Amino acid sequence: MTDTADIPLTVALEDLRIDGLRLIERLENLARLGGIDLQGRPVPDGVVPAGSSRLAATQADGRGRDLVVGWMRDLGLQIRIDEVGNVTGTRPAADGSTDHPVMTGSHIDTVATGGKYDGNLGVLSALEVIATLDEHRIATRRPITVGFFTNEEGARFQPDMMGSLVYAGGLPPSVARAAKDLAGMALGDELTAIGYLGEAPAPGPAPHAFVELHIEQGPVLERDGAVVGAVTGVQGISWTEVRIAGQGNHAGTTPMGSRRDAGLAAARLAVFLDDLARRSPSNQVATVGQVELFPNLVNVIPGRARLTVDLRNIDNAALIAAEQAFRAYVEELAQTYGLEIALANLVRFDPVDFDARVIGLVERTATRLGHPVTRIASGAGHDAQMLARVAPTAMIFTTSHGGISHDPAEWTKPEDLVAAADTLLHVVLELSEGDHLAV
Ligand SMILES: [Zn+2]
Repeated sequence: MTDTADIPLTVALEDLRIDGLRLIERLENLARLGGIDLQGRPVPDGVVPAGSSRLAATQADGRGRDLVVGWMRDLGLQIRIDEVGNVTGTRPAADGSTDHPVMTGSHIDTVATGGKYDGNLGVLSALEVIATLDEHRIATRRPITVGFFTNEEGARFQPDMMGSLVYAGGLPPSVARAAKDLAGMALGDELTAIGYLGEAPAPGPAPHAFVELHIEQGPVLERDGAVVGAVTGVQGISWTEVRIAGQGNHAGTTPMGSRRDAGLAAARLAVFLDDLARRSPSNQVATVGQVELFPNLVNVIPGRARLTVDLRNIDNAALIAAEQAFRAYVEELAQTYGLEIALANLVRFDPVDFDARVIGLVERTATRLGHPVTRIASGAGHDAQMLARVAPTAMIFTTSHGGISHDPAEWTKPEDLVAAADTLLHVVLELSEGDHLAV
């Protein structure tokens, strides 16, 4: 029996809410590490940044990690750092167990010109879940783990979603550590330099379930008047590098019919892929994001070109069809213009369907909390798609104003950030079977 004077005023479980001001303050504090202005230039310490630049395993990433791990320690979480730098912090279950936790989290690395929210929102909202349960003395039948994964963005080391892929057993840790950036630096050495090459083995323990909160990074929720997205799955991704070899030659003396113009083929390929995606009855998207011409001079026919192709679709059969059409057109270009064209696969992930039960839970929870919710497929890749290999998984999206992301102009209304974090709180509470401590 208890002395009633020791019991704080008890909030009914359904009325629990995260501390929105603390969430936003943490987002702002994390954004200062590697802070940049709207043009992507570093800002001095003390100046409020527009966004952040924390490429994976850089000094800035190390500072960001230190801040978040400090918060995890403040919350009493049991920290685990694995051999590719994935960090988890676990709040034990009521019986003290740390096995088969409900896991939530995301990533805190950014692209070179990143915003404040991206993966940070999912990690810091997860900390809010823990803090809220602690403050209201809620115990859970299952442990809860907060995690952030190494090199989600793939902006410095490839493939992207590397840490979660290793965690889920899809890539050997040694291969991930050997990945090199453009300067020839290996991920493993760079993690050592910032103090985050841990000793816990990867792949990591499979959780009971995984839920990731993330901004949509697209315009759909805002356009449709929804605040929360119950994410049904993630598009398949196909990245290919195209190298075209023709013949560099004089721009004035070479007749049009005698040219082997690698630049023209690159341009035609970009137009072909745009048409292909626009004409597709599925939601195919296609992007040529990098183009380099050699020698890249005004009066020389390009002898060589290098470009990248990014194809995505939620429907794998449609994605495969797009890849086949792309390759057939490359062969046609090679024959028409007398070129040699080499294709190298950079990344290929199949589309992922999330777990129907967890999707339904997200949808019901948002509705119960009064937040307009809609089902949505993710256009971007996320750590959750890797965890979906080993545990029932879904994601919670919230709005991205104007659909802008991977840019310092990335912005989400504070009330939407809080609504999504509250949804996460109640989804985790239900999955972990939480209740007030019976002291
Ligand atoms: Zn992200």
